[in-house]
Amino acid sequence: MRTENVDVAVVGGGPAGLAAAAAAREAGAENVLLIERGERLGGILNQCIHDGFGTKMLGEALTGPEYAQIFIDRLSDSGVTSSLETMVLDLTPDRELTICSEDGIRRIKAGSVVLCTGCRERTRGAIRIPGTRPAGVFTAGVVQEYMNLRNILVGRKAVILGSGDIGLIMARRLTLEGVKVECVAEILPYPSGLARNIVQCLDDFDIPLYLSTTVVDIHGVERLQGVTLAQIGPKGGVVRGTKRFIDCDTLLLSVGLIPENELAKKAGIDLSPVTTGPIVDDQFQTSVPGIFCGGNALQVHDLVDYASMESQKAGQSAATFAGAGKLPDQNIDVQPGNGIRYVVPQTLSGEEAVDFSMRVFSPGSDRYVVFRRGDKMVRRMKQTELDPAAMIRVRVRADRFKGSEGPLTVEVTD
Ligand SMILES: Cc1cc2nc3c(=O)[nH]c(=O)nc-3n(C[C@H](O)[C@H](O)[C@H](O)COP(=O)(O)OP(=O)(O)OC[C@H]3O[C@@H](n4cnc5c(N)ncnc54)[C@H](O)[C@@H]3O)c2cc1C
Repeated sequence: MRTENVDVAVVGGGPAGLAAAAAAREAGAENVLLIERGERLGGILNQCIHDGFGTKMLGEALTGPEYAQIFIDRLSDSGVTSSLETMVLDLTPDRELTICSEDGIRRIKAGSVVLCTGCRERTRGAIRIPGTRPAGVFTAGVVQEYMNLRNILVGRKAVILGSGDIGLIMARRLTLEGVKVECVAEILPYPSGLARNIVQCLDDFDIPLYLSTTVVDIHGVERLQGVTLAQIGPKGGVVRGTKRFIDCDTLLLSVGLIPENELAKKAGIDLSPVTTGPIVDDQFQTSVPGIFCGGNALQVHDLVDYASMESQKAGQSAATFAGAGKLPDQNIDVQPGNGIRYVVPQTLSGEEAVDFSMRVFSPGSDRYVVFRRGDKMVRRMKQTELDPAAMIRVRVRADRFKGSEGPLTVEVTD
């Protein structure tokens, strides 16, 4: 089998991959190949026809396709080669990719690789809802694709399980298309989606949100005939006497996204048990030298802007690595402390400013996110609202890491 050589191979043509490929080229990599299994660039944004994309990076609220087009245009001006309808099947630790397209199976040897493979939705099987297996049970992203890209209406009366952003956006979208959305049920005692989506997608359309509630049974043989909802107590059990039947022909599951990391696993990259994405340093380099990661494959993003920003950095670093430039040594570990679920990146050099991304365990207000190294307070930032659904981004200047030793801890304090 013929092997082709490229400087930088970017896997995935969503917003993260688009940003990484353009940045790698702009940083001096001659031969950049962007590989996308779908028939067009843009990733998940192609089916997101609502607005709200680009507020942080571009200062305007665009639709998904509008946002993606800006980066597609930038890419086509840059001289990056895109290979559509091409699936990356395998990746080795020494950066050899096996790809499959209508031309057959080929090998690519890359100077560096950026993984921007996005994420996939959790399904009914993943959360083990009991009951029959009728038609009418979908993940929210699948319904979004049916409605927005294929013009297919999936039902007439819907219940949505999970108050993540995709579920909330689909509650509004279904309502606008004439579907009666009976309710959104959320197992947690607080919503999992952004506050703005609760207001704009549920409150504005009088769709009830039932917290601490889940689906405990599914009814119907050929087609879904209804679901049983029940309240969930603080220890995770069903609260007696709270079961109720809701008549519906459609159940939409918005119960979480999982970073798509089959290739990372094949390359032997260390994954975080919390994010389930690769562990990365401040250059977005994974535990395997020369393989970088950005976007939803790294951590599930609520805002696309941050996926683009971090992937831009990953692309620049990949170009440096491929050009035998030196990446800074990484010797400061980053550790999540009280109240922090995870922090990315997980190691840093201390030689340059770092944009940290993190999520908290539980909601709160008027608290501080504090970075400490040894006895030194490196950064303290007030958070008027803490929301587990919203990623927190904090920039720390390089000089703040100096003058202290040991790991950097990040915690929530009063
Ligand atoms: C329904 C929904 C609504 C959203 N709403 C908003 C919003 O209002 N505002 C906002 O800012 N953000 C929003 N987001 C978040 C934003 O869309 C994501 O953060 C962003 O799309 C992540 O980009 P990505 O490139 O990492 O992943 P994706 O867009 O998923 O792209 C990954 C790409 O990789 C390709 N791929 C995967 N594996 C392979 C392989 N082996 N070979 C080749 N190609 C491969 C896939 O085909 C895909 O095109 C929303 C997300 C969803 C799902």
